[in-house]
Amino acid sequence: MKETLTKQTLMETNTRLQLKTRYPLYINGKYVDSSSGQWFDTYNPATGEKIAVVAKANRADVDIAVTAARQALDGKWGRYSAARRAQVLNRIASLLRDRFDEICELEVYNSGKSLANAQGQVMQAIEDFELFAAAALVHEGSTKPVPNGFFNYTLKEPVGVCAQIIPWNYPLMMAAWKVAPALAAGCSVVLKPASLTPITAYVLADICQVAGLPEGVLNVVTGSGADIGAYLVEHPGVDKVAFTGETSTGKDIMARASQTLKRITLELGGKSPNIIFPDANFNAAIDGALFGIYYNTGQSCEARSRLFVHESIYDKFVQAFVEKANRLVMGNPLDVQTHMGAIISEAQVQVIDGYVQSALEAGARVVYGGKRPEGSEFAKGHWYMPTVIVDVTNDMKVAQEEIFGPVIVVVKFKDEKEAVKLANESVYGLAASIWTQDFGRAHRVAAQLKAGTVMINSPFSALPGLPFGGYKQSGFGRELAAESLELYTETKSVLAYIGEKPLNPFGV
Ligand code: NAP
Ligand code: MG
Repeated sequence: MKETLTKQTLMETNTRLQLKTRYPLYINGKYVDSSSGQWFDTYNPATGEKIAVVAKANRADVDIAVTAARQALDGKWGRYSAARRAQVLNRIASLLRDRFDEICELEVYNSGKSLANAQGQVMQAIEDFELFAAAALVHEGSTKPVPNGFFNYTLKEPVGVCAQIIPWNYPLMMAAWKVAPALAAGCSVVLKPASLTPITAYVLADICQVAGLPEGVLNVVTGSGADIGAYLVEHPGVDKVAFTGETSTGKDIMARASQTLKRITLELGGKSPNIIFPDANFNAAIDGALFGIYYNTGQSCEARSRLFVHESIYDKFVQAFVEKANRLVMGNPLDVQTHMGAIISEAQVQVIDGYVQSALEAGARVVYGGKRPEGSEFAKGHWYMPTVIVDVTNDMKVAQEEIFGPVIVVVKFKDEKEAVKLANESVYGLAASIWTQDFGRAHRVAAQLKAGTVMINSPFSALPGLPFGGYKQSGFGRELAAESLELYTETKSVLAYIGEKPLNPFGV
Protein backbone atom coordinates (compact mmCIF):
# COMPACT_ATOMS: atom_id res chain seq x y z
CA MET A 1 0.00 0.00 0.00
CA LYS A 2 1.38 3.38 -0.99
CA GLU A 3 0.73 6.50 1.01
CA THR A 4 -0.04 9.73 -0.78
CA LEU A 5 2.87 12.09 -0.64
CA THR A 6 0.99 15.36 -0.49
CA LYS A 7 1.55 17.42 2.62
CA GLN A 8 -1.47 19.60 2.01
CA THR A 9 -4.41 19.31 4.32
CA LEU A 10 -7.89 18.81 3.00
CA MET A 11 -8.74 22.47 3.54
CA GLU A 12 -5.68 23.65 1.61
CA THR A 13 -6.38 21.49 -1.40
CA ASN A 14 -9.95 22.50 -1.40
CA THR A 15 -10.96 25.53 -3.42
CA ARG A 16 -14.59 24.92 -4.28
CA LEU A 17 -16.00 23.67 -1.00
CA GLN A 18 -19.26 25.37 -0.11
CA LEU A 19 -19.48 23.95 3.37
CA LYS A 20 -21.91 25.73 5.67
CA THR A 21 -21.42 25.73 9.41
CA ARG A 22 -25.05 24.87 10.20
CA TYR A 23 -27.50 22.62 8.40
CA PRO A 24 -31.11 23.21 9.53
CA LEU A 25 -33.96 20.84 8.65
CA TYR A 26 -35.66 21.27 5.27
CA ILE A 27 -39.42 21.08 5.72
CA ASN A 28 -42.17 22.40 3.45
CA GLY A 29 -39.72 24.27 1.27
CA LYS A 30 -38.07 26.12 4.17
CA TYR A 31 -34.95 25.70 6.26
CA VAL A 32 -36.01 25.47 9.90
CA ASP A 33 -34.37 24.73 13.23
CA SER A 34 -35.58 21.62 15.02
CA SER A 35 -38.39 22.30 17.45
CA SER A 36 -36.16 21.19 20.34
CA GLY A 37 -33.44 23.63 19.24
CA GLN A 38 -30.90 20.78 19.39
CA TRP A 39 -28.00 20.22 17.00
CA PHE A 40 -25.50 17.45 16.52
CA ASP A 41 -21.97 17.52 15.14
CA THR A 42 -20.85 16.06 11.84
CA TYR A 43 -17.25 15.16 11.08
CA ASN A 44 -14.65 14.58 8.42
CA PRO A 45 -13.70 10.90 8.88
CA ALA A 46 -10.31 11.44 7.22
CA THR A 47 -9.22 13.89 9.91
CA GLY A 48 -11.69 13.38 12.74
CA GLU A 49 -12.41 17.12 12.64
CA LYS A 50 -15.87 18.50 13.30
CA ILE A 51 -17.01 20.26 10.13
CA ALA A 52 -20.55 21.50 10.83
CA VAL A 53 -23.57 21.17 13.06
CA VAL A 54 -26.81 19.63 11.88
CA ALA A 55 -30.32 20.11 13.26
CA LYS A 56 -31.52 17.20 15.38
CA ALA A 57 -35.16 16.58 14.53
CA ASN A 58 -37.55 15.12 17.06
CA ARG A 59 -40.93 13.50 16.60
CA ALA A 60 -42.76 16.82 16.46
CA ASP A 61 -40.61 17.82 13.49
CA VAL A 62 -41.37 14.52 11.80
CA ASP A 63 -45.10 15.18 12.24
CA ILE A 64 -44.70 18.56 10.55
CA ALA A 65 -42.69 17.03 7.69
CA VAL A 66 -45.22 14.24 7.14
CA THR A 67 -48.08 16.75 7.12
CA ALA A 68 -46.21 18.91 4.60
CA ALA A 69 -45.63 15.86 2.39
CA ARG A 70 -49.32 14.96 2.56
CA GLN A 71 -50.42 18.50 1.72
CA ALA A 72 -48.05 18.58 -1.25
CA LEU A 73 -49.57 15.38 -2.54
CA ASP A 74 -53.09 16.71 -2.10
CA GLY A 75 -52.05 20.04 -3.62
CA LYS A 76 -50.53 21.04 -6.92
CA TRP A 77 -47.87 18.29 -7.00
CA GLY A 78 -50.69 15.76 -7.11
CA ARG A 79 -51.98 17.47 -10.26
CA TYR A 80 -48.63 17.56 -12.10
CA SER A 81 -48.58 15.55 -15.30
CA ALA A 82 -45.84 12.95 -15.76
CA ALA A 83 -44.28 15.26 -18.35
CA ARG A 84 -44.08 18.10 -15.85
CA ARG A 85 -42.59 15.85 -13.18
CA ALA A 86 -40.04 14.69 -15.75
CA GLN A 87 -39.10 18.31 -16.46
CA VAL A 88 -38.42 18.91 -12.77
CA LEU A 89 -36.33 15.73 -12.54
CA ASN A 90 -34.29 16.79 -15.56
CA ARG A 91 -33.74 20.22 -14.01
CA ILE A 92 -32.54 18.55 -10.79
CA ALA A 93 -30.08 16.47 -12.85
CA SER A 94 -28.86 19.54 -14.68
CA LEU A 95 -28.34 21.54 -11.46
CA LEU A 96 -26.48 18.60 -9.90
CA ARG A 97 -24.25 18.58 -12.98
CA ASP A 98 -23.61 22.33 -12.64
CA ARG A 99 -22.49 21.85 -9.03
CA PHE A 100 -20.68 18.54 -9.67
CA ASP A 101 -17.22 19.48 -8.35
CA GLU A 102 -18.56 21.16 -5.26
CA ILE A 103 -20.87 18.25 -4.42
CA CYS A 104 -18.10 15.68 -4.92
CA GLU A 105 -15.89 17.56 -2.51
CA LEU A 106 -18.63 17.92 0.07
CA GLU A 107 -19.25 14.18 -0.19
CA VAL A 108 -15.55 13.47 0.33
CA TYR A 109 -15.39 15.88 3.20
CA ASN A 110 -18.28 14.29 5.09
CA SER A 111 -17.68 10.61 4.24
CA GLY A 112 -13.90 10.29 3.92
CA LYS A 113 -14.24 8.44 0.60
CA SER A 114 -11.79 9.07 -2.22
CA LEU A 115 -12.60 11.81 -4.72
CA ALA A 116 -12.59 9.29 -7.55
CA ASN A 117 -15.23 7.21 -5.75
CA ALA A 118 -17.32 10.29 -5.01
CA GLN A 119 -17.15 11.44 -8.63
CA GLY A 120 -18.50 8.12 -9.91
CA GLN A 121 -21.28 8.09 -7.34
CA VAL A 122 -22.37 11.70 -7.87
CA MET A 123 -22.37 11.09 -11.64
CA GLN A 124 -24.58 8.09 -11.05
CA ALA A 125 -26.93 10.19 -8.92
CA ILE A 126 -27.28 12.59 -11.86
CA GLU A 127 -27.97 9.74 -14.26
CA ASP A 128 -30.58 8.34 -11.85
CA PHE A 129 -32.59 11.55 -12.07
CA GLU A 130 -32.31 11.47 -15.87
CA LEU A 131 -33.31 7.81 -15.95
CA PHE A 132 -36.41 8.35 -13.85
CA ALA A 133 -37.36 11.49 -15.78
CA ALA A 134 -37.54 9.27 -18.84
CA ALA A 135 -39.20 6.40 -16.98
CA ALA A 136 -41.95 8.70 -15.66
CA LEU A 137 -43.07 9.31 -19.25
CA VAL A 138 -43.54 5.67 -20.11
CA HIS A 139 -44.91 4.31 -16.85
CA GLU A 140 -48.48 3.68 -17.75
CA GLY A 141 -51.50 1.57 -17.08
CA SER A 142 -53.16 -0.73 -19.58
CA THR A 143 -56.50 -1.81 -20.90
CA LYS A 144 -57.50 -5.43 -20.74
CA PRO A 145 -60.22 -6.88 -22.92
CA VAL A 146 -63.21 -7.91 -20.78
CA PRO A 147 -66.19 -9.57 -22.50
CA ASN A 148 -69.95 -9.05 -22.05
CA GLY A 149 -70.17 -5.26 -22.13
CA PHE A 150 -67.40 -4.47 -19.71
CA PHE A 151 -64.56 -2.06 -20.16
CA ASN A 152 -61.44 -2.05 -18.00
CA TYR A 153 -58.38 0.07 -17.62
CA THR A 154 -55.64 0.28 -15.00
CA LEU A 155 -54.17 3.42 -13.48
CA LYS A 156 -50.73 3.77 -11.91
CA GLU A 157 -51.24 6.03 -8.92
CA PRO A 158 -48.54 7.32 -6.57
CA VAL A 159 -48.35 5.20 -3.44
CA GLY A 160 -48.39 8.38 -1.35
CA VAL A 161 -46.09 9.80 1.31
CA CYS A 162 -42.78 7.93 1.33
CA ALA A 163 -40.34 7.79 4.23
CA GLN A 164 -36.90 7.17 2.75
CA ILE A 165 -34.16 6.17 5.17
CA ILE A 166 -30.63 5.92 3.83
CA PRO A 167 -27.14 4.81 4.98
CA TRP A 168 -23.80 6.57 5.14
CA ASN A 169 -21.77 4.65 2.59
CA TYR A 170 -23.07 6.37 -0.59
CA PRO A 171 -24.84 9.43 0.83
CA LEU A 172 -25.94 11.32 -2.30
CA MET A 173 -26.23 8.28 -4.54
CA MET A 174 -28.54 6.53 -2.07
CA ALA A 175 -30.63 9.70 -1.81
CA ALA A 176 -30.93 9.72 -5.62
CA TRP A 177 -31.83 6.00 -5.76
CA LYS A 178 -34.70 6.80 -3.41
CA VAL A 179 -35.88 10.31 -4.28
CA ALA A 180 -35.77 10.08 -8.10
CA PRO A 181 -38.22 7.17 -8.55
CA ALA A 182 -40.50 8.51 -5.81
CA LEU A 183 -40.79 11.90 -7.53
CA ALA A 184 -41.13 10.28 -10.95
CA ALA A 185 -44.10 8.30 -9.65
CA GLY A 186 -45.68 11.45 -8.19
CA CYS A 187 -45.07 10.60 -4.51
CA SER A 188 -43.91 13.01 -1.84
CA VAL A 189 -40.97 12.27 0.42
CA VAL A 190 -39.58 12.62 3.91
CA LEU A 191 -35.89 11.76 3.54
CA LYS A 192 -33.87 10.71 6.60
CA PRO A 193 -30.13 10.67 5.82
CA ALA A 194 -27.64 8.78 7.98
CA SER A 195 -26.50 10.80 10.98
CA LEU A 196 -22.86 10.33 9.98
CA THR A 197 -23.29 11.84 6.48
CA PRO A 198 -26.15 14.35 6.34
CA ILE A 199 -24.64 17.14 4.28
CA THR A 200 -25.22 16.27 0.62
CA ALA A 201 -28.89 15.44 1.29
CA TYR A 202 -29.31 19.11 2.17
CA VAL A 203 -27.53 20.10 -1.04
CA LEU A 204 -30.02 17.94 -2.91
CA ALA A 205 -32.87 19.70 -1.10
CA ASP A 206 -31.40 23.02 -2.13
CA ILE A 207 -31.20 21.90 -5.74
CA CYS A 208 -34.76 20.55 -5.71
CA GLN A 209 -35.96 23.92 -4.51
CA VAL A 210 -34.09 25.76 -7.27
CA ALA A 211 -35.40 23.22 -9.79
CA GLY A 212 -38.94 24.28 -8.92
CA LEU A 213 -40.09 21.24 -6.97
CA PRO A 214 -43.18 22.48 -5.12
CA GLU A 215 -42.82 22.98 -1.38
CA GLY A 216 -43.42 19.95 0.81
CA VAL A 217 -42.71 17.40 -1.96
CA LEU A 218 -39.24 16.70 -0.56
CA ASN A 219 -38.53 17.18 3.12
CA VAL A 220 -35.23 16.33 4.80
CA VAL A 221 -35.06 15.50 8.50
CA THR A 222 -31.88 14.57 10.33
CA GLY A 223 -31.61 12.96 13.74
CA SER A 224 -31.36 9.59 15.44
CA GLY A 225 -32.54 6.67 13.32
CA ALA A 226 -33.59 4.74 16.40
CA ASP A 227 -35.85 7.65 17.33
CA ILE A 228 -37.15 9.56 14.29
CA GLY A 229 -36.40 6.73 11.82
CA ALA A 230 -38.46 4.28 13.84
CA TYR A 231 -41.16 6.93 14.32
CA LEU A 232 -41.38 7.50 10.56
CA VAL A 233 -41.78 3.75 10.03
CA GLU A 234 -44.68 3.61 12.48
CA HIS A 235 -46.23 6.91 11.41
CA PRO A 236 -49.86 6.54 10.26
CA GLY A 237 -49.34 9.41 7.79
CA VAL A 238 -46.64 7.50 5.91
CA ASP A 239 -47.72 5.12 3.14
CA LYS A 240 -44.39 3.56 2.17
CA VAL A 241 -40.96 3.06 3.69
CA ALA A 242 -37.96 2.67 1.42
CA PHE A 243 -34.94 1.71 3.47
CA THR A 244 -31.30 1.00 2.73
CA GLY A 245 -29.05 -0.09 5.56
CA GLU A 246 -28.13 -2.98 7.77
CA THR A 247 -30.09 -6.21 7.72
CA SER A 248 -30.74 -5.98 11.48
CA THR A 249 -32.26 -2.49 11.05
CA GLY A 250 -34.29 -3.81 8.10
CA LYS A 251 -35.79 -6.52 10.30
CA ASP A 252 -36.80 -3.93 12.88
CA ILE A 253 -38.36 -1.79 10.14
CA MET A 254 -40.29 -4.72 8.70
CA ALA A 255 -41.72 -5.56 12.13
CA ARG A 256 -42.72 -1.98 12.86
CA ALA A 257 -44.15 -1.38 9.38
CA SER A 258 -46.36 -4.44 9.75
CA GLN A 259 -48.48 -2.58 12.31
CA THR A 260 -49.86 -0.32 9.59
CA LEU A 261 -49.18 -2.71 6.69
CA LYS A 262 -47.03 -0.15 4.94
CA ARG A 263 -45.45 -0.90 1.62
CA ILE A 264 -41.75 -1.48 2.20
CA THR A 265 -38.63 -1.83 0.12
CA LEU A 266 -35.53 -3.10 1.91
CA GLU A 267 -32.03 -2.88 0.45
CA LEU A 268 -29.86 -4.54 3.06
CA GLY A 269 -26.45 -6.01 3.76
CA GLY A 270 -24.38 -8.42 1.73
CA LYS A 271 -21.50 -10.88 1.79
CA SER A 272 -21.05 -11.25 -1.91
CA PRO A 273 -18.92 -14.00 -3.45
CA ASN A 274 -16.32 -13.64 -6.16
CA ILE A 275 -15.57 -16.96 -7.87
CA ILE A 276 -12.32 -17.39 -9.79
CA PHE A 277 -12.30 -20.43 -12.09
CA PRO A 278 -8.97 -21.80 -13.32
CA ASP A 279 -9.65 -20.73 -16.93
CA ALA A 280 -10.27 -17.08 -15.97
CA ASN A 281 -8.23 -14.29 -17.53
CA PHE A 282 -5.83 -14.18 -14.59
CA ASN A 283 -4.92 -10.49 -14.61
CA ALA A 284 -8.46 -9.28 -15.23
CA ALA A 285 -9.67 -11.46 -12.36
CA ILE A 286 -7.02 -10.05 -10.02
CA ASP A 287 -7.88 -6.45 -10.95
CA GLY A 288 -11.61 -7.11 -10.74
CA ALA A 289 -11.34 -8.86 -7.38
CA LEU A 290 -9.27 -6.00 -6.02
CA PHE A 291 -11.84 -3.42 -7.11
CA GLY A 292 -14.69 -5.67 -5.97
CA ILE A 293 -13.56 -5.51 -2.36
CA TYR A 294 -11.53 -2.32 -1.92
CA TYR A 295 -13.79 0.08 -3.82
CA ASN A 296 -15.17 2.64 -1.34
CA THR A 297 -12.65 1.24 1.18
CA GLY A 298 -14.75 -1.92 1.40
CA GLN A 299 -17.78 -0.01 2.68
CA SER A 300 -20.08 -1.23 -0.07
CA CYS A 301 -23.18 -3.33 0.25
CA GLU A 302 -22.15 -5.19 -2.91
CA ALA A 303 -18.49 -5.64 -1.84
CA ARG A 304 -17.22 -8.97 -3.11
CA SER A 305 -15.84 -9.83 0.32
CA ARG A 306 -15.65 -13.62 -0.14
CA LEU A 307 -13.06 -14.71 -2.69
CA PHE A 308 -13.41 -18.33 -3.87
CA VAL A 309 -10.35 -19.45 -5.84
CA HIS A 310 -9.88 -22.78 -7.60
CA GLU A 311 -7.27 -24.90 -5.84
CA SER A 312 -5.09 -25.19 -8.97
CA ILE A 313 -4.41 -21.42 -9.05
CA TYR A 314 -4.95 -20.56 -5.40
CA ASP A 315 -1.34 -19.87 -4.30
CA LYS A 316 -0.45 -17.91 -7.42
CA PHE A 317 -3.68 -15.90 -7.22
CA VAL A 318 -3.28 -14.97 -3.54
CA GLN A 319 0.32 -13.89 -4.15
CA ALA A 320 -0.60 -11.69 -7.11
CA PHE A 321 -3.61 -10.26 -5.26
CA VAL A 322 -1.46 -9.25 -2.27
CA GLU A 323 1.14 -7.69 -4.58
CA LYS A 324 -1.53 -5.53 -6.19
CA ALA A 325 -3.18 -4.66 -2.84
CA ASN A 326 0.23 -3.31 -1.87
CA ARG A 327 0.09 -0.93 -4.84
CA LEU A 328 -3.18 0.70 -3.77
CA VAL A 329 -2.86 4.26 -2.59
CA MET A 330 -4.54 5.11 0.70
CA GLY A 331 -4.51 8.62 2.05
CA ASN A 332 -5.79 12.14 1.43
CA PRO A 333 -9.22 11.47 -0.09
CA LEU A 334 -9.12 14.67 -2.15
CA ASP A 335 -5.94 13.60 -3.93
CA VAL A 336 -6.87 12.25 -7.36
CA GLN A 337 -4.22 9.53 -7.00
CA THR A 338 -5.94 8.05 -3.93
CA HIS A 339 -7.70 4.70 -4.35
CA MET A 340 -8.83 4.21 -0.77
CA GLY A 341 -10.10 6.87 1.60
CA ALA A 342 -10.97 6.69 5.26
CA ILE A 343 -13.28 4.47 7.28
CA ILE A 344 -16.46 6.26 8.31
CA SER A 345 -15.89 6.25 12.09
CA GLU A 346 -13.69 4.99 14.89
CA ALA A 347 -16.48 2.61 15.93
CA GLN A 348 -16.41 1.08 12.43
CA VAL A 349 -12.61 0.68 12.57
CA GLN A 350 -13.08 -1.26 15.77
CA VAL A 351 -15.78 -3.45 14.23
CA ILE A 352 -13.45 -4.25 11.31
CA ASP A 353 -10.51 -5.01 13.58
CA GLY A 354 -12.74 -7.17 15.79
CA TYR A 355 -13.57 -9.34 12.77
CA VAL A 356 -9.89 -9.66 11.85
CA GLN A 357 -9.05 -10.74 15.40
CA SER A 358 -11.91 -13.28 15.34
CA ALA A 359 -10.47 -14.78 12.14
CA LEU A 360 -7.05 -15.16 13.75
CA GLU A 361 -8.61 -16.82 16.77
CA ALA A 362 -10.48 -19.22 14.47
CA GLY A 363 -7.19 -20.31 12.85
CA ALA A 364 -7.12 -18.15 9.70
CA ARG A 365 -4.03 -16.16 8.63
CA VAL A 366 -3.73 -12.49 7.73
CA VAL A 367 -1.34 -12.24 4.77
CA TYR A 368 -1.75 -8.53 4.21
CA GLY A 369 -2.98 -5.60 6.33
CA GLY A 370 -5.01 -6.51 9.39
CA LYS A 371 -4.17 -3.24 11.08
CA ARG A 372 -4.35 0.53 10.88
CA PRO A 373 -1.90 2.04 8.41
CA GLU A 374 1.23 3.66 9.80
CA GLY A 375 2.48 7.18 9.07
CA SER A 376 1.78 10.72 10.14
CA GLU A 377 -0.94 11.04 7.52
CA PHE A 378 -3.03 8.53 9.44
CA ALA A 379 -2.44 9.93 12.92
CA LYS A 380 -5.84 11.61 12.79
CA GLY A 381 -9.07 10.23 11.38
CA HIS A 382 -10.18 6.62 10.93
CA TRP A 383 -8.18 4.27 8.74
CA TYR A 384 -7.74 0.56 8.09
CA MET A 385 -5.39 -1.15 5.67
CA PRO A 386 -6.62 -3.30 2.81
CA THR A 387 -6.63 -6.73 4.40
CA VAL A 388 -6.36 -10.26 3.02
CA ILE A 389 -7.23 -13.28 5.17
CA VAL A 390 -6.47 -16.83 3.97
CA ASP A 391 -7.04 -20.35 5.34
CA VAL A 392 -10.64 -19.38 5.86
CA THR A 393 -13.44 -21.91 6.03
CA ASN A 394 -17.04 -21.07 5.29
CA ASP A 395 -18.22 -21.66 8.85
CA MET A 396 -16.03 -18.89 10.27
CA LYS A 397 -17.72 -15.70 11.43
CA VAL A 398 -15.47 -13.72 9.10
CA ALA A 399 -16.83 -15.72 6.15
CA GLN A 400 -20.47 -15.34 7.14
CA GLU A 401 -21.03 -11.88 8.58
CA GLU A 402 -20.86 -8.56 6.75
CA ILE A 403 -17.73 -6.70 7.89
CA PHE A 404 -18.29 -3.52 5.88
CA GLY A 405 -14.61 -2.70 5.63
CA PRO A 406 -11.60 -3.45 3.40
CA VAL A 407 -11.28 -7.10 4.37
CA ILE A 408 -11.38 -10.02 1.96
CA VAL A 409 -11.49 -13.67 3.01
CA VAL A 410 -10.10 -16.28 0.64
CA VAL A 411 -11.53 -19.80 0.39
CA LYS A 412 -10.32 -22.66 -1.85
CA PHE A 413 -12.68 -24.79 -3.98
CA LYS A 414 -12.12 -27.92 -6.04
CA ASP A 415 -14.85 -27.88 -8.68
CA GLU A 416 -17.78 -25.91 -10.06
CA LYS A 417 -20.33 -27.69 -7.90
CA GLU A 418 -18.45 -26.90 -4.72
CA ALA A 419 -17.95 -23.26 -5.76
CA VAL A 420 -21.70 -22.79 -6.19
CA LYS A 421 -22.44 -24.53 -2.91
CA LEU A 422 -19.94 -22.44 -0.94
CA ALA A 423 -21.06 -19.19 -2.59
CA ASN A 424 -24.71 -19.88 -1.75
CA GLU A 425 -23.97 -20.82 1.86
CA SER A 426 -24.88 -17.38 3.17
CA VAL A 427 -27.93 -15.63 4.57
CA TYR A 428 -27.19 -12.84 2.11
CA GLY A 429 -27.80 -12.69 -1.64
CA LEU A 430 -27.03 -9.26 -3.02
CA ALA A 431 -24.40 -9.72 -5.74
CA ALA A 432 -21.87 -12.23 -7.07
CA SER A 433 -19.01 -12.17 -9.57
CA ILE A 434 -17.80 -15.05 -11.72
CA TRP A 435 -14.50 -15.10 -13.63
CA THR A 436 -14.20 -17.68 -16.41
CA GLN A 437 -13.73 -17.77 -20.18
CA ASP A 438 -16.01 -20.76 -20.55
CA PHE A 439 -19.29 -19.35 -21.86
CA GLY A 440 -21.34 -22.34 -20.79
CA ARG A 441 -19.91 -22.39 -17.28
CA ALA A 442 -20.45 -18.64 -16.84
CA HIS A 443 -24.17 -18.84 -17.53
CA ARG A 444 -24.65 -22.22 -15.82
CA VAL A 445 -23.17 -20.82 -12.61
CA ALA A 446 -25.00 -17.47 -12.97
CA ALA A 447 -28.28 -19.38 -13.06
CA GLN A 448 -27.46 -21.23 -9.84
CA LEU A 449 -26.24 -18.32 -7.72
CA LYS A 450 -28.80 -16.90 -5.28
CA ALA A 451 -28.06 -13.22 -5.83
CA GLY A 452 -29.91 -10.20 -7.20
CA THR A 453 -27.02 -9.26 -9.48
CA VAL A 454 -24.48 -11.59 -11.09
CA MET A 455 -21.46 -10.16 -12.88
CA ILE A 456 -19.50 -12.22 -15.41
CA ASN A 457 -15.91 -11.09 -15.91
CA SER A 458 -16.72 -7.67 -14.49
CA PRO A 459 -16.61 -6.07 -11.06
CA PHE A 460 -19.29 -3.44 -11.78
CA SER A 461 -22.66 -4.21 -10.30
CA ALA A 462 -24.88 -1.14 -10.35
CA LEU A 463 -25.57 0.78 -13.55
CA PRO A 464 -28.54 3.12 -14.04
CA GLY A 465 -31.32 1.24 -15.78
CA LEU A 466 -30.36 -2.20 -14.45
CA PRO A 467 -32.38 -3.53 -11.51
CA PHE A 468 -30.43 -3.74 -8.26
CA GLY A 469 -31.55 -5.48 -5.09
CA GLY A 470 -31.27 -8.55 -2.96
CA TYR A 471 -32.25 -12.18 -2.57
CA LYS A 472 -32.63 -13.67 0.91
CA GLN A 473 -31.66 -11.39 3.82
CA SER A 474 -30.19 -8.80 1.47
CA GLY A 475 -33.74 -7.51 1.22
CA PHE A 476 -36.37 -7.17 -1.47
CA GLY A 477 -37.49 -4.71 -4.09
CA ARG A 478 -35.38 -3.48 -6.99
CA GLU A 479 -33.92 -0.01 -7.36
CA LEU A 480 -32.12 1.86 -10.12
CA ALA A 481 -34.34 0.59 -12.94
CA ALA A 482 -37.58 1.65 -14.58
CA GLU A 483 -39.32 -1.26 -12.84
CA SER A 484 -38.63 0.49 -9.50
CA LEU A 485 -41.62 2.71 -10.33
CA GLU A 486 -43.85 -0.28 -9.62
CA LEU A 487 -42.71 0.03 -5.99
CA TYR A 488 -43.82 3.67 -5.83
CA THR A 489 -47.22 3.18 -7.44
CA GLU A 490 -50.43 1.36 -6.68
CA THR A 491 -52.24 -0.25 -9.59
CA LYS A 492 -55.91 0.62 -9.67
CA SER A 493 -58.16 -1.46 -11.86
CA VAL A 494 -61.23 0.44 -13.09
CA LEU A 495 -64.05 -1.75 -14.32
CA ALA A 496 -66.96 -0.12 -16.11
CA TYR A 497 -70.10 -1.67 -17.51
CA ILE A 498 -70.92 -0.09 -20.87
CA GLY A 499 -73.43 -2.59 -22.18
CA GLU A 500 -76.78 -1.48 -23.51
CA LYS A 501 -78.91 -3.70 -21.31
CA PRO A 502 -78.76 -2.76 -17.60
CA LEU A 503 -77.22 -5.37 -15.33
CA ASN A 504 -79.46 -7.24 -12.93
CA PRO A 505 -77.19 -9.84 -11.32
CA PHE A 506 -79.77 -11.18 -8.81
CA GLY A 507 -82.35 -11.37 -11.52
CA VAL A 508 -85.11 -10.22 -9.19
P1 NAP B 1 -27.94 1.36 9.42
O1 NAP B 1 -27.14 1.45 10.65
O2 NAP B 1 -28.98 0.30 9.32
O3 NAP B 1 -28.61 2.81 9.23
C1 NAP B 1 -29.25 3.15 8.02
C2 NAP B 1 -30.24 4.27 8.26
O4 NAP B 1 -31.28 3.81 9.13
C3 NAP B 1 -29.64 5.49 8.95
O5 NAP B 1 -30.26 6.65 8.43
C4 NAP B 1 -30.02 5.27 10.40
O6 NAP B 1 -30.05 6.46 11.15
C5 NAP B 1 -31.40 4.67 10.25
N1 NAP B 1 -31.86 3.86 11.38
C6 NAP B 1 -31.14 3.28 12.36
N2 NAP B 1 -31.95 2.59 13.20
C7 NAP B 1 -33.21 2.71 12.72
C8 NAP B 1 -34.48 2.21 13.12
N3 NAP B 1 -34.63 1.41 14.19
N4 NAP B 1 -35.58 2.53 12.40
C9 NAP B 1 -35.46 3.31 11.30
N5 NAP B 1 -34.28 3.82 10.87
C10 NAP B 1 -33.17 3.52 11.56
O7 NAP B 1 -27.02 1.22 8.15
P2 NAP B 1 -25.63 1.98 7.92
O8 NAP B 1 -24.67 1.53 8.97
O9 NAP B 1 -25.92 3.43 7.77
O10 NAP B 1 -25.22 1.47 6.48
C11 NAP B 1 -24.49 0.32 6.23
C12 NAP B 1 -25.39 -0.81 5.77
O11 NAP B 1 -26.13 -0.43 4.62
C13 NAP B 1 -24.63 -2.06 5.37
O12 NAP B 1 -25.22 -3.19 5.96
C14 NAP B 1 -24.79 -2.10 3.86
O13 NAP B 1 -24.67 -3.39 3.31
C15 NAP B 1 -26.13 -1.51 3.68
N6 NAP B 1 -26.33 -1.01 2.31
C16 NAP B 1 -27.12 -1.73 1.45
C17 NAP B 1 -27.31 -1.31 0.13
C18 NAP B 1 -28.16 -2.09 -0.83
O14 NAP B 1 -28.49 -1.57 -1.88
N7 NAP B 1 -28.54 -3.31 -0.53
C19 NAP B 1 -26.67 -0.14 -0.30
C20 NAP B 1 -25.87 0.57 0.59
C21 NAP B 1 -25.72 0.12 1.90
P3 NAP B 1 -28.77 6.91 12.03
O15 NAP B 1 -27.68 7.14 11.05
O16 NAP B 1 -29.25 8.12 12.71
O17 NAP B 1 -28.48 5.76 12.94
MG1 MG C 1 -24.99 1.19 11.05
